[in-house]
Amino acid sequence: MKLVTFAAGTSHRIGAVDPEAGVLRDASELLPAGAGMLEVIERWAELGPLLRDQVPGLTTRAVDSVELLAPIPVPRRNIFCVGKNYRDHVLEFGRSGYDQPDRSEAMPEYPVLFSKATTAVTGPYGDIDPHHGVTAELDYEAELGVIIGRGGRGITREQAFEHVWGYTIIDDFTARDLQRTHKQWLLGKSLDTHSPMGPYAVSADEIADVTALMVESRVNGELRQSAPVKDLIFDIQELIATISAGITLLPGDLIATGTPAGVGIGFDPPRFVGSGDVIEVSITGLGTQRNRIA
Ligand code: MG
Repeated sequence: MKLVTFAAGTSHRIGAVDPEAGVLRDASELLPAGAGMLEVIERWAELGPLLRDQVPGLTTRAVDSVELLAPIPVPRRNIFCVGKNYRDHVLEFGRSGYDQPDRSEAMPEYPVLFSKATTAVTGPYGDIDPHHGVTAELDYEAELGVIIGRGGRGITREQAFEHVWGYTIIDDFTARDLQRTHKQWLLGKSLDTHSPMGPYAVSADEIADVTALMVESRVNGELRQSAPVKDLIFDIQELIATISAGITLLPGDLIATGTPAGVGIGFDPPRFVGSGDVIEVSITGLGTQRNRIA
């Protein structure tokens, strides 16, 4: 299913979307009162079959008639993120000098993990705050987001996909000057509105082969990034095994799996984005998010 969180007055509701038909059904009619996406994911064994059975009978409305929020508007905790996880991006990042002054193009031996604050999350079509006076080097990073279903610790590679609820799109938007200046990446990755998510949370049963999905970004219509998920240096199973070795993964946890080559600092000189630019990120089967920098 393709689920969304949409605004209804001051509250949020869960919708099931059929993008081809352009329609949404209000699944909250079927769910426990007040249940958000985190509850739906946590109780998926029970609620998934219920939704599959009964959603088709609900009345439809145009998707365009509602405001879509991030599918998980307030994640339970910081988003797990993976740096330097596509070979060509490691090279462009190394050459840029933004990672280390010695411009190392060496491939990482182990996954590079950091996190992004929950307050950075914004909707799939929301405006991005340029944070004038805080940063002058805005950049985009198109990424596949993995949504954890069943939690656990010590999850093996072989078990990893049993713990994946589904997928979404995350733009790991970045303030490059803060990323470089402060060494640790949290600050440069976590400014408010710098984590557009969605439009959909897509359950894993809809994706036959996640490695075949294409991750793409466009700036003002110009294609900048395009790579299949199979190009990941550390694949989804490896990421889940690595994180969960000593950290309990929880239902609804998000892992942004890394970005392909073609980000702004990949160009010489860098092509940063700024006010008025529109960034679109698309992944096969997961839709397109479109965010304008205010
Ligand atoms: Mg990233």
